[in-house]
Amino acid sequence: MTTKRDYYEILGVGKNASKEEIKKAYKELAKKYHPDVSKEANAAEKFKEISEAYAVLSDDQKKSTYDQFGHSGFDQRYSQEDIFRGFDFDIFNEIFGRGSGRGFHEFDNIFDMFFDSSRGRPRERRGNDLRYDLEISLKEAAFGTKKTINITKLDKCDNCNATGSKDGKLDRCSNCNGHGMVSRIARTPFGTLTTSTTCNRCHGTGQITKNVCNICNGEGLKKVRKELEVEIPQGVDTGSTLRLKAEGNSVKGGRSGDLYIVVHIQENEFFKRKENDIYIKVPITFTQAALGTRIEIPTLDGSVEMKIPPGTQSGTLFRLKGKGIKDIEHNGYGDQYVEVNIVTPSKLSKKQIELFKELEKTELDTQKSFFQRLRDSLK
Ligand SMILES: [Zn+2]
Ligand SMILES: [Zn+2]
Repeated sequence: MTTKRDYYEILGVGKNASKEEIKKAYKELAKKYHPDVSKEANAAEKFKEISEAYAVLSDDQKKSTYDQFGHSGFDQRYSQEDIFRGFDFDIFNEIFGRGSGRGFHEFDNIFDMFFDSSRGRPRERRGNDLRYDLEISLKEAAFGTKKTINITKLDKCDNCNATGSKDGKLDRCSNCNGHGMVSRIARTPFGTLTTSTTCNRCHGTGQITKNVCNICNGEGLKKVRKELEVEIPQGVDTGSTLRLKAEGNSVKGGRSGDLYIVVHIQENEFFKRKENDIYIKVPITFTQAALGTRIEIPTLDGSVEMKIPPGTQSGTLFRLKGKGIKDIEHNGYGDQYVEVNIVTPSKLSKKQIELFKELEKTELDTQKSFFQRLRDSLK
């Protein structure tokens, strides 16, 4: 089990806080805990904690995943690295102002310390993540399915084994002496910061290609179409995201990104879904409602017989327990709700008219007594 603190609690905001409120709360806390300016003990740890909370809550998709699944579900879907990907570093300029000359973009490197493996070393290169929007039917969502999808992505070039070099030979980058990083000194209102940034000549690889591969022009990559089989688990809903590790774009000298499958459920004319419950409306006749009956009700998983008791009113909601959708996270199923509506016949046979007239005579008394009570209520 996770013992992580709630992200909203860390930033001291409510669950319904707006984007602006979340941003404001983070700015206040960052001012206090930024390791280069803070005098607090454990400032770096604190700063990481608040930055992680902000990274998640400021990103619509991550926030909705967190809101939906909490820490345990969220951490299954996002690595630490994913959490900080796309972090809005401009916020440090807003907080600390632009330093003389360089500004504060070197603050990016503070995030290197969050990932032990990259501390003091060039940040690992990683290919872009890809997104694929997949539409499935309600029934497929309810029972899970397998889908074959075709994606176009950047894969490693076979000709040069993704090195980008025709003969496979690479030379040391002269800009960074093969380190992949260059040190810079930034002046800030809080003093001088020495920071290292990724070398922009070799993009952090420390190596330069002399004999460029003519298949990929030294990129080390090629565009490919790939067929993938995707297992869709039972219970997915619109907005559910499935992550296929390393099926995103490749990158020279680094790891491939991931592929995210975003699920969309097609509208069904009759079956409406609300979380794990299903709602349908069925018409019944006036006599069925009055006398009671048993009717066959279709569910996602075949038909069941449902009892309509005598004297059922139009709009009554009946529940078929466990006939909804399986919960994606837990065991257990939702229910199916059946709203019955009495349909007044618009065309009657002669025989039916006779019968209704017969019936009407017996009803007049009930009707009269109601209007009597209605009038009496005003006395
Ligand atoms: Zn190549
Ligand atoms: Zn370099």
